[in-house]
Amino acid sequence: MTAPLSPEAAPPAVATLSPSESVLASVRESAERIRLEPEALELLKTPWREIRAQLPVRMDDRKLRIFEGYRVQHNGARGPYKGGIRFHPRADIDEVRALAMLMTYKCSLMELPFGGAKGGVMCDPTRMSETELNRLSRTYMQHINMILGVTRDIPAPDMGTNAQTMAWMMDAYGQMHGYTPGIVTGKPVELGGSFGRDQATGRGVAVCMREYARLEGIDPRDIRIVVQGYGNVGSWTCRIANEYGFRVVAVSDVKGGLANPAGIDIAALDRWAAVAGSVAGFEGAEPITNEQLLATECDYLVPAALGEVITGENAGAIRARVVVEAANHPVTPAGDAVLAARGITVLPDILINAGGVTVSYFEWTQNIQQFRWALDRVNQELEVRMVAAFGDLMARAAKDGTRARQAAFDIAVERVARAIRLRGFV
Ligand code: NAD
Repeated sequence: MTAPLSPEAAPPAVATLSPSESVLASVRESAERIRLEPEALELLKTPWREIRAQLPVRMDDRKLRIFEGYRVQHNGARGPYKGGIRFHPRADIDEVRALAMLMTYKCSLMELPFGGAKGGVMCDPTRMSETELNRLSRTYMQHINMILGVTRDIPAPDMGTNAQTMAWMMDAYGQMHGYTPGIVTGKPVELGGSFGRDQATGRGVAVCMREYARLEGIDPRDIRIVVQGYGNVGSWTCRIANEYGFRVVAVSDVKGGLANPAGIDIAALDRWAAVAGSVAGFEGAEPITNEQLLATECDYLVPAALGEVITGENAGAIRARVVVEAANHPVTPAGDAVLAARGITVLPDILINAGGVTVSYFEWTQNIQQFRWALDRVNQELEVRMVAAFGDLMARAAKDGTRARQAAFDIAVERVARAIRLRGFV
């Protein structure tokens, strides 16, 4: 076992915070370390704009259902707002606000010319038909289109939404404003989407794990990984990590988990999941619960599903050396404090899952240029940016003696604050 690469000073005990308060806690800490002027911090504490919209949708049974939807634009000092749209029963305004804040710092950390935003609709897309989802996506767009624009705010998919959702939203926007492919990213390739967008977030996660393994001086073939969530991010992380040689010893989705200490055959699992619609029931591994999955002994634990899954209550049970935050905000501040005290390294979400927004940036660029890049070029440019951001972050953490998350926020907040000053806001 190798010592963690960044010094793991234990942060003070933390009370239960809402998602946006948790993100703000990281920003406040950064503000102190980098001596941010109080006025700039005031600007970052609250979003620039929030929309809360009533979304009436006629369901297939002809009954009218009213959903609640949001778009939060946190900070646009570095460029147009950018951030996904989540369809999930827990997507309330505070969660969306927290995710919008994270987008500001993620785009900044990756040096993308964007600010941060996020959208959400409180709904359960798994219980809705395709026609209901189509109607909901269009209704959502009708209610937020006035604050969007190719140079204003560009949404993308997130949990519960996908390329099809983006196609409906692009179409609804086009009906109001004319053909505008650059209004959303994560579109189907046939409608101006970028090659490689579907695998981009997972590829970024795998590249960061490979770089961290290199820093540790360990061959990926000697590293066991456990991945929670086998959706877009989790499944692509497994596939690409597998190509790099990592051994995937456990995975799960909402229906249950699987473990095989000898390594799960990912290609066979994909064939199974394509038919069964879940990893559960795959015969090449033993069934486990999601609770057991988080406590499975491994080297790198990769939460790639929901937020706040590692908490003050369960962080003590984790048996990994490194937590790789592929999901957004998967570790609560209380969970983070326990992991730090136990010497477990946490590689933060604003770096780890930034591959998606990076290729969204490439997609937006291609749409503006009306030009398409080949898949190799997309993957290569993504690789260059992920490796550079990873290197800068680890160097900063080593220089300042901070944890990786602290270094990530320090770099990101500094850049946003600089843009705020240059624009003359403070
Ligand atoms: P997805 O909807 O494609 O997949 C989510 C997966 O999590 C599914 O396999 C689902 O079954 C599983 N899941 C849900 N609840 C679970 C539970 N309680 N226990 C275990 N598994 C559970 O979503 P996604 O796009 O892969 O996003 C996953 C995470 O990554 C989210 O936090 C999202 O914000 C973040 N993220 C996604 C992207 C992207 O490009 N898709 C980019 C950045 C961050």
